[in-house]
Amino acid sequence: MDNNLITVTSPLLPPLEEFNEMIKEIYESKWITNNGQFHKRLEKALAEYLKVPFVSLFTNGTLPLITALQALRITGEVITTPYSFVATTHSLWWNGIKPVFVDIDPFTGNIAPDKIEAAITSRTTGIMPVHVYGKPCDTKGIQEIADRYGLKVIYDAAHAFGVEVNGKSILNAGDISTLSFHATKVYNTIEGGAMVMHDEQTKQRIDQLKNFGFVGETSVIAPGINSKMDEMRAAYGLLNLKQVDEAIEARHQVAVKYRNALRSVEGISFFDDMPGVKHNYSYFPIFVDSEKYGMKRDELYEKMKSENVLGRRYFYPLISEFSTYRGLESASPANLPNAHKMANSVICLPMHHALSDEDIERVLRCVVK
Ligand SMILES: *Cc1c(COP(=O)(O)O)cnc(C)c1O
Repeated sequence: MDNNLITVTSPLLPPLEEFNEMIKEIYESKWITNNGQFHKRLEKALAEYLKVPFVSLFTNGTLPLITALQALRITGEVITTPYSFVATTHSLWWNGIKPVFVDIDPFTGNIAPDKIEAAITSRTTGIMPVHVYGKPCDTKGIQEIADRYGLKVIYDAAHAFGVEVNGKSILNAGDISTLSFHATKVYNTIEGGAMVMHDEQTKQRIDQLKNFGFVGETSVIAPGINSKMDEMRAAYGLLNLKQVDEAIEARHQVAVKYRNALRSVEGISFFDDMPGVKHNYSYFPIFVDSEKYGMKRDELYEKMKSENVLGRRYFYPLISEFSTYRGLESASPANLPNAHKMANSVICLPMHHALSDEDIERVLRCVVK
């Protein structure tokens, strides 16, 4: 029997011939980076597709987080979640900000709004939540607290490409949202990312900050970084944008098949779609209750591996467990019981646009007993 490797994700690749055509165009123009034609086109196309007012492209999904904190002049302490990819907290470290971890909601995996208030001190200036697995945070609850205490909100929306609540983009929540277009994400530009903002003035400032802080040829207004996206990747991104809806629908069908098969498996739980939400099916996490399932999470993970089915334990370990952060008072496991429980039970099953029915069956054969 065919036992080829099933990876947790597979990049959405644009049609090679069309990409070649675009590369030819770039060669002929000899404009290969610095806000060229494809860069401008992709920013406009993304703003339209995502239903947001302004988009600024970046070279990855980490630098827009770092730059957003710089642009909003956030200092002191920022309240955030330990249940994410480590780049979320690293962006605070790069700005000399102290991360303050708050526990998650056990039903969504997102930061629990009712735990935020107790973590606010006189040094708190912002909140950095994450729409984990693309599931929308309680943006209303978070904004109410932010408004009450005069805090900025930056959403790490790396998982939330195209996610909408009641027909409106989730990316419009808070002061700024950031996206990652890394190869492993729903929509990719190989490496890449973006920032979403509400007004033209902020877009202008961000465009300066991602280009060393240059304004014109001779003036530098701030210690900006270099995070420009080049023309090749912008062209690649334009082509991928045309096929991302189809890819998301393919992922949706995978999720439907997984759910149908797993609903009756004792000790395995998963997320269902939320009412009014347009999901992007970026991940398919399952949670193993080892008592009821009769097998430990890591045993199942290893069993899958031995069958050439690669799951990922996103997000284990928690960010608060890494040596850089574990010394923080808020990183103590007693402060984060829900996050620990989720991190210790999660496996993300293979989820991408190109999974065949045979692949899905092979994944399920590992999990369904
Ligand atoms: C992928 C990811 C990032 C970082 O994006 P890169 O493009 O890899 O720099 C940040 N936050 C979260 C939650 C992510 O999943």
